[in-house]
Amino acid sequence: MPVYEYICDGCGKAFSLFMSYADYDAAVVNCPACGAANVRRKIRPIRVAVGEKARLQQLSEEAAGNDSSQMLGKVMRTIQQQSGRELPPDTNEALTRLEKGESPESINKDYD
Ligand SMILES: [Zn+2]
Repeated sequence: MPVYEYICDGCGKAFSLFMSYADYDAAVVNCPACGAANVRRKIRPIRVAVGEKARLQQLSEEAAGNDSSQMLGKVMRTIQQQSGRELPPDTNEALTRLEKGESPESINKDYD
């Protein structure tokens, strides 16, 4: 399950979505903060090994259900590790802060 990172051109807020490739093709993405449709992708999706998809699907559903920064960080870290790719330094730092329980909002402020 790839993670798609977006940034809103309307209000500047960054957000992440978990979607299958099929969902992504059909998705109309609106900013969760201001509802604007003029959002753009920040980075390419992180591809996940096929064998891990079911587990990551479950993790991402847990993350979506409990709105926990740490859970989101954990899911994103798992995906990153499974992808075998290094993250850009600023993304890695943001992820580390998520894992420590910082809110995405406070992290995003530092990147605006
Ligand atoms: Zn917005």
